[in-house]
Amino acid sequence: MSGIAYDDGNIFAKILRGEIPCHRVYEDADTLAFMDVMPQAPGHLLVIPKQPSRNMLDADPAVLAKTIAVVQKLARAAQDAFDADGIYIAQFNEPAAGQTVFHLHFHIVPRHEGEALKPHSGKMEDNEILATNAEKIIGELGN
Ligand code: 5GP
Repeated sequence: MSGIAYDDGNIFAKILRGEIPCHRVYEDADTLAFMDVMPQAPGHLLVIPKQPSRNMLDADPAVLAKTIAVVQKLARAAQDAFDADGIYIAQFNEPAAGQTVFHLHFHIVPRHEGEALKPHSGKMEDNEILATNAEKIIGELGN
């Protein structure tokens, strides 16, 4: 356990409660996936379990198992949607490791040969672009 209590005032808890909007790409009983508002590359999305946990250190292994299966499903969809050469998957635990939002989440970032990643938590993307990119990924789900 991380030893630090979950705080339900975090931004992803607010997204789960519907208090702030997101560009949703996938949802099931246990999981939600949506576009990162400060993408490090086009198609950068986040997958989160609905069950509260601060990060991987305090997560229920059964929840993790369900979440990672959705990460795989969406990584495949993002690869097809963006014709990616590779897919970067990242997950940070605690500020020292780069975590800034304290609800467990996995980053999925399409990568192309020779194209550098933009900075982590860098620039806010236009809503229209996020919406278009979400639709591209949604279009590949189920294919
Ligand atoms: P981490 O906690 O792994 O460092 O990163 C949190 C991620 O959440 C960052 O990539 C950041 O761009 C993203 N993010 C921060 N606030 C919001 C928000 O309000 N909506 C969405 N969709 N993403 C966010």
